[in-house]
Amino acid sequence: MIRNSKFKIRNFVMNLIIFGPQGSGKGTQADLLAEKYSLAHIETGQIFREIGRENSELGRKIKQLNDSKEMIPDEITVDIIKNSLEKVVTSKGIILDSAPRTLGQIDPVEKMLKELGRPIDRAIYITLPYDESVSRITKRYACTVCYRHFVLGKHIANNEDPCPTCGGPVMQRNDDTPDGVAKRLKTFYEVTVPVIEQYRENGMLIEVDGNQSVEKVFEDIIKQI
Ligand SMILES: [Zn+2]
Repeated sequence: MIRNSKFKIRNFVMNLIIFGPQGSGKGTQADLLAEKYSLAHIETGQIFREIGRENSELGRKIKQLNDSKEMIPDEITVDIIKNSLEKVVTSKGIILDSAPRTLGQIDPVEKMLKELGRPIDRAIYITLPYDESVSRITKRYACTVCYRHFVLGKHIANNEDPCPTCGGPVMQRNDDTPDGVAKRLKTFYEVTVPVIEQYRENGMLIEVDGNQSVEKVFEDIIKQI
């Protein structure tokens, strides 16, 4: 009996997906959840940006799509996520940030996750009013060395300050302009919200108000997991 229950505990891995509009703080919450539940944080946007810096055929294609702010095709997205997931030890759960992000990605992503023995347990949606997204993103800066994100007026006093973590130079992401933000939010509400609604219909959704402190948002997620 005892051996049996230990066996079960050791084999329990939690697999989560997290969604939210730009500026909702989903990256921060994903990091906190990853720490609490020992999950690997798979941030698809970050992975695409990293591959986009590689001098390879795929790298050049991703960079070109990113530069023109086009969506990465579904089959490339699924392959790239699969590649990242295969590197995670099976004893560790995952938190998948913003995938599947189109209705067309749901079936291939879920099929791939099942094949890897990682069926999704919960989908988390952090909501944020449109204007609040815009206001938060236009104040967002990132370190060019360690890629951490900072908020102007909160973590750094002005945009000439060095990265508080590693001292590297900080800059705005080139798509964090008002036009870039509007385009990404439009994509989020038109393309990704229907995906979230599907998880709601399946009874897998945890919805949390993102217009609160980081600590309160985290507490609200934990209560519902
Ligand atoms: Zn840094």
